[in-house]
Amino acid sequence: MTDPAVALREILGPKGWLSGDDAEPFQRDWLDRYGLQPLGVARPASTAEMAAVVKACRQAGLAVVPQGGNTSLCGGAVAAQPNAVIVSLSRMTAIGEPDQESGSIAVDAGVVLAALHDALEPHGLMFPMHLGAEGSARIGGLIGTNAGGSQAFRYGMMQDLVLGLEVVMPDGAVWDGLRAVQKDNAGYQLRKLFCGSEGTLGIVARAILRLYPTPKQQASALLVMSDFAAAVSFGAFLRGEAGEFLTGLEFFSDVGLALALKHLPDLAYQLESRGDVYLLVELASGSTRVPLDDILASALEWGMEQRLVVDGALANSSAQRARFWRLREEQPEGQRLEGEQLKHDISVPPGAIARFIEAGAKICDNILPGVRINPFGHLGDGNIHYNLSPPEGRSDFNGKAGEFAEALAALATEMGGSFAAEHGLGRAKIAMADRNRAPIERDLMAQLKRAFDPQGTMNPGVLVRVRQ
Ligand SMILES: Cc1cc2nc3c(=O)[nH]c(=O)nc-3n(C[C@H](O)[C@H](O)[C@H](O)COP(=O)(O)OP(=O)(O)OC[C@H]3O[C@@H](n4cnc5c(N)ncnc54)[C@H](O)[C@@H]3O)c2cc1C
Repeated sequence: MTDPAVALREILGPKGWLSGDDAEPFQRDWLDRYGLQPLGVARPASTAEMAAVVKACRQAGLAVVPQGGNTSLCGGAVAAQPNAVIVSLSRMTAIGEPDQESGSIAVDAGVVLAALHDALEPHGLMFPMHLGAEGSARIGGLIGTNAGGSQAFRYGMMQDLVLGLEVVMPDGAVWDGLRAVQKDNAGYQLRKLFCGSEGTLGIVARAILRLYPTPKQQASALLVMSDFAAAVSFGAFLRGEAGEFLTGLEFFSDVGLALALKHLPDLAYQLESRGDVYLLVELASGSTRVPLDDILASALEWGMEQRLVVDGALANSSAQRARFWRLREEQPEGQRLEGEQLKHDISVPPGAIARFIEAGAKICDNILPGVRINPFGHLGDGNIHYNLSPPEGRSDFNGKAGEFAEALAALATEMGGSFAAEHGLGRAKIAMADRNRAPIERDLMAQLKRAFDPQGTMNPGVLVRVRQ
C-alpha cells in the first residue's frame, strides 16, 4: 500500500504538501493551547485538488482538519492526533468580479477578509463583516465559525451573508451549491448548515457572498457612560432614533482601556474624562442627504440630559474615527500583552447585558477575589467577551479556569443566552455544551454529523462528540 504522505504529495506537488518543520507554522492554534504535529499540511490550489486530497485521506483513514487563517479561539483548526492532515486554504485565494446588479461576489474560501474589503473598495461595494482578526481570517474559516463581528446586529452573521457554497464532502464528493440567490427554499437550508459547522461536515471551497453599497457618509462617536445599565439604555434609545442607520454599537470597560493604553503606547485616548464603560457608536448611510451628524448629536444631548452619557466626542475626520475604532479593536491585544488571560464568549439578550456583568462580577470575585474583569464586545446583539486577567500582583488563576468557565456558562444559559456566541465550540467547549444543552439538542447534532460523515474523519473531536 502506498504511503499516504507520498500519495498526497503526488496529488499536490511539492508546493502543495508540507511536512516536518515546514508544517510547523500551521500546527498550534492562535492562543497556543491546542495542536499536535500532523502528518502534513495539504495546500490544494483548486476544488478538484481539495476533493482528491479528502478522498485519499478517507481511503487511508486519516483525519482531515480544515484550516483557514487559524485565528479561531476554540482550537478547532489544528490537529489533535498524529494521523491527521491539515487542509489549508492558503492557496485558494481568487476573488471574482463583483456582480453590481445582483450585489454578490464569488470568492475562493481562502480569501483573507481584509483582502476582500480592499478588492471591493474601488467598486463602491462592501462586505459588511468586520472583526479584529480580519487581516488573517479567511472566508472558509469565517463560514466555518459563522463569524459575527461588529456589524452583525445590523447585517447579520456569516450565515446571513452567504448566498451559495461549493463544498467538498467528507468522502471527496463535491456539492455545487453556488447559487447567487437569497430565496432558495428547495429543501433544507444546506448552505446555512455549513455555517458554524466548524469543518465537521465538509470543507467549503468557494462561496458566493452578499454585498452592500459602501456608505457615502458615516457619523461616529466615542462616549463615556455612567455605567453598564446606562450603556444598555442608551443603546436601546439609539436603536429607536437611528433605526437602520445604526451600524456600530460596541462597548469596552475602563479595565480594558487601561490595559490597551499601558501596552500599546501609540494608542490615543483624547476625551477629558474616564468612566467605567465606553460606547463606540456609528451611523452610516448610502445617501448623503440623511443628517447623520444631527441624529447622533441629538441622541447624545438626550443621553447627557438623562445622565447616561458622561462625556463624548463626535469624530470630526476619518483619522479620528479610525482612532476611536482602534481603542475598541485593541482590547484583546492589550489584555494578551498583560499576560495570562481567560476568554469567555457569552451572549445574553441585549437588555440583560448589565445584569449579566453585575452577576458575573460577584461570581468571579467569589471564585478568585480581585480577579480583573474585562468585558467588551458587541452591545447591539448582546455579545460579551467576558475576559479575565489575574488579580494585580498574580500571574495565574490559581487553577480556577474551569470553575470560571462553568459558572459563567451556567449564568449565560440561565439568562436565556449562550456560552458560545460567535467563536463556536471547537475542541475547547464540547464538554461544556454537553452540560449546558438539552440532550436532544446534542443528539440531533450527533445524528447530523453521522449522516454527513459516517466514518467520522472530518475534523473529529470538534463541535460534537459522536458515540459510535
Ligand atoms: C483578535 C481577534 C478578534 C476576533 N474577533 C472576532 C469577532 O469579532 N467575531 C467573531 O466571530 N470572531 C472573532 N474572532 C475569532 C476568529 O477570527 C473567527 O472565528 C474567524 O471566523 C476564524 O476564521 P479563520 O479563517 O481564522 O478560521 P480557522 O481558525 O482557520 O478555522 C475556524 C474553524 O473553521 C473550520 N474551517 C476553516 N476553514 C474552513 C473551510 N474552508 N470549510 C469548513 N470549515 C473550515 C476550521 O476547521 C475550524 O473549526 C477573533 C479572533 C481574534 C484573534
